[in-house]
Amino acid sequence: MSDPVLVAKRLRAGYDGVAVVHDLDLTVDAGEVVALLGANGAGKTTTLLTVAGLLPPIDGTLLVLDEVAHDEHGRGRRVRRSALTRTWKRARRGVALVPEDRGLFPGLTVREHLRLARGGRDATDRAFDMFPALAPLADRPSGLLSGGEQQMLALARALVGEPRLLMVDEMSLGLAPIIVERLLPMLRTIATETGAGVLLVEQHVPMALAVADRAVVMSRGRDVVSGTAAELAARPDLLEASYLGER
Ligand code: ATP
Repeated sequence: MSDPVLVAKRLRAGYDGVAVVHDLDLTVDAGEVVALLGANGAGKTTTLLTVAGLLPPIDGTLLVLDEVAHDEHGRGRRVRRSALTRTWKRARRGVALVPEDRGLFPGLTVREHLRLARGGRDATDRAFDMFPALAPLADRPSGLLSGGEQQMLALARALVGEPRLLMVDEMSLGLAPIIVERLLPMLRTIATETGAGVLLVEQHVPMALAVADRAVVMSRGRDVVSGTAAELAARPDLLEASYLGER
């Protein structure tokens, strides 16, 4: 039986009440990897920010873990909260977002990032088990790490909080393909081993489909194609048409 950690139905989201995401249907189950694909400006990052709580939904239904974040009657279930409070509460309950810019503090060391993320010594050791390349860099400021090492740290920081929903925005940005080939499969491992649902925004479509169970393609704020990763990998024509805005 499916156990959703994220359900969006007819979700509208955007900025200052102006929607850039329209009628989006999206689910992520526990232990599942879902790739959110689409051309630049399709609305992928806006979707992640809304699920994380950094943007309020405009309309539609949004269930994040066991919280009704917004219902179809167009109102937040509880008192309207500031974005920071909303995001903090969701993070405490198990929502983690690795943003496109990785969100690291250049002056803080690797170990300090992991400690700040509620990671005691055990959690820090587990992070080093998962990313052994970080262990010898524990006392190095993140600003002095390579792009790949920074991405590992951003992921490790998200993982020490033991998320139930992990969202990763363009992990491959600025990384050599060989590094991406090593890092992306880790998301599959995380989903399988921890039971977290993973929502992955990625421009490297073949690599994303290789690790995902399912994919949803967005175009101009709408979900235009969805299916299993295998189905979509077999239909490059569909993918191409949605990237070109022809669907
Ligand atoms: P990319 O792959 O280029 O990162 P994306 O699919 O993640 O694109 P979004 O960043 O979600 O797309 O942007 C969707 C739309 O929202 C775009 O038209 C963008 O210009 C607009 N947008 C993004 N940020 C803001 C903002 N802060 N204020 C107003 N509009 C914004």
